[in-house]
Amino acid sequence: MKIPFNKPYVTGREMEYIRTVVENGRFAGNGEFSQKCARRLEEITGCRKAVLVPSGTAALEMMMVLAGIGPGDEVILPSFTFSSTANAVVLRGATPVFIDIRPDTLNMDETLVEAAITPRTRAILPVHYAGVGCEMDTIMSIAGKHGLLVLEDAAQCILSYYKNRHLGSLGQMGALSFHETKNIHCGEGGALLINDPAFVERAEIVMEKGTDRSKFFRGEIDKYTWVDVGSSYLVNEITAAFLWAQLEEAENIVKRRRELWNQYHDALAPLESAGLLRRPIVPEECTPHNAHIYYILLNTPQARDEVMADLKSQDIRAVFHYIPLDTALAGRTYAPEREQLPVTADLSARLLRLPLFVGLPISEVLGIFFKTHFFAKSLR
Ligand SMILES: *Cc1c(COP(=O)(O)O)cnc(C)c1O
Repeated sequence: MKIPFNKPYVTGREMEYIRTVVENGRFAGNGEFSQKCARRLEEITGCRKAVLVPSGTAALEMMMVLAGIGPGDEVILPSFTFSSTANAVVLRGATPVFIDIRPDTLNMDETLVEAAITPRTRAILPVHYAGVGCEMDTIMSIAGKHGLLVLEDAAQCILSYYKNRHLGSLGQMGALSFHETKNIHCGEGGALLINDPAFVERAEIVMEKGTDRSKFFRGEIDKYTWVDVGSSYLVNEITAAFLWAQLEEAENIVKRRRELWNQYHDALAPLESAGLLRRPIVPEECTPHNAHIYYILLNTPQARDEVMADLKSQDIRAVFHYIPLDTALAGRTYAPEREQLPVTADLSARLLRLPLFVGLPISEVLGIFFKTHFFAKSLR
């Protein structure tokens, strides 16, 4: 492909920091770079405590362990999301309860949350699609009224805000991803943001294989043992060093993505006026957002497929997602009591994501876009 869908950004400082790790000879988790990254994430997000974890998926899983989600529990989430959001629930033996999305932001429809609550509901799991926040004031107040936790899948959300608060810092906990497809990355990586102090101490234990090793390292106890359930949710220092280089550049990277996002948005306005597509809608309270995704909604699934094929024939990769989780094989297995989710079904079949990465030759992409068979014939 001449123009790929994504090209992971490299700042140029990564090797220098990795060399530092090699020279210092300390490679395991919770080292100097891990701690620097965690402190920086706390500054950026305003969360109580941030911990680096191996992926956004791991952050979601660790979050569910800390929240004590277990068999018989239900967690409310959108079906329009990545498999990891639902897997984190299913891996605890709990049941995902899928609800529909809003037609404007494609986020969880907060007006449908209350009807999905049962005596078994333990948590609401909003996913902030494309780095644009869910209606968090409403979600937080419903959760408060019913005594539920709010656990945010903020995987796409580094440097995205809702009412000037960083996404992932509003509920009890939030998950960030640093997968290479995200704005800031280290190949595979993530962070768990802990906002409720009740979860901070146990997080240290759960991520250290269920031991109180962190206390031991701080000299607070003279030996460490197995005290709770846990796993290895630590990140090696080489990965953390790479991430540190990215975090230093985070504001610049996002600024450049926002420029590209705005260029798409301005250029495509006439096609929206002509009734050929719909552009993303970002509510005022969800700005600034991090320009993680630029998507368009075509009028029919056939039109979406046609535009995608036209672009591919011109060597430009555009992609779609998500196959709604409630209709997927595992969704039908682990969440068998299905409601119809008409907005999810409709929009996911008409959505197309355009290439977006720092360095994208956007004028070239737009030139080809307007000349595709589909738009050329529609505009004639
Ligand atoms: C990327 C992503 C994840 C998973 O993050 P990984 O770091 O790839 O494990 C989870 N949820 C959403 C919404 C994502 O976009």
